[in-house]
Amino acid sequence: MKKIAVFPGDGIGKEVVRETVEVLKIVDKKYKLSLEFEEALVGGSAYDEYKTPLPDSSLKLAKDSDAVLLGAVGGPKWDGLDYSVRPERALLGLRSELGLFANLRPAIVYPALVQASTLKKEIVEGVDIMVVRELTGDVYFGKPRGVEKLSDGSEKGINTMVYTTPEIERIAKVAFDVARKRNKKLTSVDKANVLECTELWRKVVTKVHKDYSDVELNHMYVDNCSMQLIRYPKQFDVIVTTNLFGDILSDEAAMLTGSIGMLPSASLGSRLSSSGSPIGMYEPIHGSAPDIAGKDIANPIATILSASMMLKYSLNSEKASSDIDNAVLNILNKGYRTKDIYEDGKKLVGTKEMGRLIGEEILNEKR
Ligand code: NAD
Repeated sequence: MKKIAVFPGDGIGKEVVRETVEVLKIVDKKYKLSLEFEEALVGGSAYDEYKTPLPDSSLKLAKDSDAVLLGAVGGPKWDGLDYSVRPERALLGLRSELGLFANLRPAIVYPALVQASTLKKEIVEGVDIMVVRELTGDVYFGKPRGVEKLSDGSEKGINTMVYTTPEIERIAKVAFDVARKRNKKLTSVDKANVLECTELWRKVVTKVHKDYSDVELNHMYVDNCSMQLIRYPKQFDVIVTTNLFGDILSDEAAMLTGSIGMLPSASLGSRLSSSGSPIGMYEPIHGSAPDIAGKDIANPIATILSASMMLKYSLNSEKASSDIDNAVLNILNKGYRTKDIYEDGKKLVGTKEMGRLIGEEILNEKR
């Protein structure tokens, strides 16, 4: 039995997660995966009920599960709340309590959606990049930090970039493992020409590479990488980088695809499930989209593809994962589109119908 904690969250989170669970139930039945789903509140809806965005019962459920499926949290209703109880705190709480130090964000340009990108077709056609971002170190957590008053009345702002050898080793291993499951090419991004901290990053990644000689490794400075992503993105397979550089580069890579409703993500930690796979949290990169919530127009594909990543990385079910990926590809090729990716001549469908079509496609695919 494999337990999945289901946190729909707020806004369109509820709609896209509902469709994703239906899709997971279909692959569960097809491949006899023995999945068990348990749903709980996080975010604004948890605050309304328990006056906290991450109730202890939800956190316990997450900790007792093999994987977490999350929709999205937040919305204008809770914008005025104190930061300590804002819906978004639930995400930070889950990430730190589950020790999720690796964030995986694929950026795939589907042939059927190549027009959605703001870049030229010949540049983005065939792009399939995975950005592995370190999630718990760097300037976001390094000390000292803060803003100090100086004797002359001015102020000094400080943040500290810090990484230790074990922190770099574990993220490098995740990235090499991911590259092994893909095209065996890893680009490590740093600023080793200026920042000592990333000089250490480069040294440690190079050392870890000795255990992964089947994977090709190259190093790139972050400024060059941000340029190369626009100039010739097809050169990349897997990119591994620090928290700050990854924050920026993963958004840049995502936008090569041009469609926020299509982009999944996975966050992995060092805790392993009984089957020996990393326990992870899987969620679309988009938010709760209050402007379209409750209208049955949200694109559920980002969340459905997050479930595919869950099957691959936490539930050891590569076949079920590729079934979902193929079903999404086929449905797009057949011309079905939600409103966010719609273009003239295509078949416009809602959230529920898109979910149903993908489920039906999975049933039609041969094992
Ligand atoms: P958003 O991602 O929710 O929406 C941005 C735009 O993209 C909106 O126009 C929305 O309609 C559209 N969009 C997003 N997902 C879509 C989908 N699946 N299908 C079709 N269209 C989609 O970002 P925002 O508007 O800046 O934030 C709204 C709320 O979500 C805020 O409260 C914010 O804090 C929260 N948020 C949560 C997360 C998360 O839970 N991980 C991430 C980002 C924002």
